[in-house]
Amino acid sequence: MLLIDRSILTEKLSGILDLKNVFLDEPLSGHTSFRIGGPAAFYVIAENLTELKEIISVCKEMNIKWYILGNGTNVLAPDDGYDGVVIRLGGKFNEISIEEDINDGTALITAGAGVSMAALSVYALKKGFTGLEFAHGIPGSLGGGIYMNAGAYGAEIKNCIFSAKALTPDGHLEEYTKEELKLGYRTSRFVGSDEIILDGAFRLMVYPRIPIRTMMEEYKKRRIEKQPLELPSAGSTFKRPEGNFAGKLIEEAGLKGFKIGGAMVSEKHAGFIVNTGNATAADVEALIEAVRQKVYENSGVMLEPEVKIMR
Ligand SMILES: Cc1cc2nc3c(=O)[nH]c(=O)nc-3n(C[C@H](O)[C@H](O)[C@H](O)COP(=O)(O)OP(=O)(O)OC[C@H]3O[C@@H](n4cnc5c(N)ncnc54)[C@H](O)[C@@H]3O)c2cc1C
Repeated sequence: MLLIDRSILTEKLSGILDLKNVFLDEPLSGHTSFRIGGPAAFYVIAENLTELKEIISVCKEMNIKWYILGNGTNVLAPDDGYDGVVIRLGGKFNEISIEEDINDGTALITAGAGVSMAALSVYALKKGFTGLEFAHGIPGSLGGGIYMNAGAYGAEIKNCIFSAKALTPDGHLEEYTKEELKLGYRTSRFVGSDEIILDGAFRLMVYPRIPIRTMMEEYKKRRIEKQPLELPSAGSTFKRPEGNFAGKLIEEAGLKGFKIGGAMVSEKHAGFIVNTGNATAADVEALIEAVRQKVYENSGVMLEPEVKIMR
């Protein structure tokens, strides 16, 4: 992006957004769970649909790229930053509502894409509905959760989602049914598209709160025991290969503790690459490639990264 674009873009964005929601040269390391990433030329928070539409329209008009960032828990941001507009969803996108149907004991819980998966599962618990317990320990937002079809402990977004709304790049609103969302293992219709997920609706069953809470606490305990939560990471670095586990294959290739720069294959859970303090995105990318090659040589399985590289 040229310097002239920056001043025009600053003026345009300031006309759309509250000034407190426009940041220039914002370090992405502060917005990713890896704690890695150089500055985003622009980092903005859209508080409602009108603002979001206007940001996209300005980016298109000025031929500037944009990136929707959720909680940044599955993203590797480049060391030299992002030469465009990184957009976070706040304000109205953080709201949750419920429509209960007392006749069949179900509820439709609708949450904005900015709501954290943890907050959504706690909301369902408080209202006494089951189905989102698995989401409690996933540190992402609902937008990122739908995009990735996030899951844990045998459940995933696909199990309980009813529909989701999205904004297309040409400014149209679409509402997709569960089938139309094309949710698969860590994928959805949104991967590779420029659509922006606005919200998701979940059909859940009424259920006693105590077993829901117990299940959530159990999952939390298992995460603390098994995952290297004390170091920055983006969770599982690789997708689970069919009929196997990435962590197991990496461990069998003798890679636990293997390091490139500040990036290391976790000693606690080989499926996680962790930032030991000063890792760069280049370190993480090099380690991902080295792990893939060594695992392939050792087992014949080529691992596929689950982590998304911001471009
Ligand atoms: C400690 C730890 C544990 C984890 N455990 C799990 C787990 O058990 N299961 C699991 O599935 N994942 C897990 N993850 C990974 C991560 O939390 C999930 O993939 C999560 O769904 C990502 O959500 P996010 O909001 O952080 O998305 P981000 O990382 O910000 O983004 C991920 C992708 O989604 C896109 N995106 C985000 N929001 C939107 C939107 N509104 N519209 C369109 N695209 C959007 C982004 O552009 C990006 O391509 C873990 C991560 C960590 C750090």
